Amino acid sequence: MIYIGCHLSVSDGYGEMGRTMQRYGGDTFAWFTRNPRGGKTKEIPQDDINDLRQILKEGFGPLVAHGSYTMNLCSANSQTRENGLDMLRKDLQRMEQLPGNYYNFHPGSHVEQGEEAGIELIADALNQVLNLQMTTTVLLETMAGKGSEIGKNFEQLREIIDRTKLKDKVGVCFDTCHTWDAGYDLAGDLDGVLTEFDRIIGLNRLKAVHLNDSKNGRGSHKDRHEKLGQGCLGEETIRNIIRHPALQGRPFILETPNDEDGYIREIRTVHTWMKE
Ligand code: FE
Ligand code: FE
Ligand code: ZN
Repeated sequence: MIYIGCHLSVSDGYGEMGRTMQRYGGDTFAWFTRNPRGGKTKEIPQDDINDLRQILKEGFGPLVAHGSYTMNLCSANSQTRENGLDMLRKDLQRMEQLPGNYYNFHPGSHVEQGEEAGIELIADALNQVLNLQMTTTVLLETMAGKGSEIGKNFEQLREIIDRTKLKDKVGVCFDTCHTWDAGYDLAGDLDGVLTEFDRIIGLNRLKAVHLNDSKNGRGSHKDRHEKLGQGCLGEETIRNIIRHPALQGRPFILETPNDEDGYIREIRTVHTWMKE
């Protein structure tokens, strides 16, 4: 089995996110730790945290918080890098209020500095914030390779992990739309892609999946998500991903273009496909 859920709005409160996901029929969820514009956060009351922790005991898988899009740990601008590092540090402190979950983020865009410099800056940032006491695992997301995004291939992610001291605190979030858009043939050779992931990074580091179809063809580097089965990956591929033995036990997060009813339907569909 897999855990399934979608993104929810943290402004509703932690406990409310838990109840909403129970109502949707899922058993995991994601949320953006900050609103994309301001990047500010407000204090979370202890009783709200306790509220969610109580709900999570009723059979939830690991949660997958998502760091802000504005966080670019390998920016060429040192102020942007500092801001990113500050957000990352504070987000990870806050994650410890919900011990043992995942914090996923986009590795960053190197702009004109080149891949090597970008990878080095990201690893350097991780080495500054990861600590032995933390119970959260930080997940690098596989990226579509739009612009100068780091994470467009497994080798780049491996390289970041190699340069990180506390490797046990780092994993990967496998975004199916991004990986396809980056050029990996999930539709034609899913086994081959996962074997390659295992060879380069190790499937033990694949901790979570962003389950999305893609509006564009393989290798498009576009990053436009589509509803399950309605994009270029298609229904059969999505079914195969959900049921793949190497991916069982992971939280799967929908990031498909849906309203509330759409997510409820997709969660139900995933459950059906999972049990076939
Ligand atoms: Fe993402
Ligand atoms: Fe994603
Ligand atoms: Zn995306």
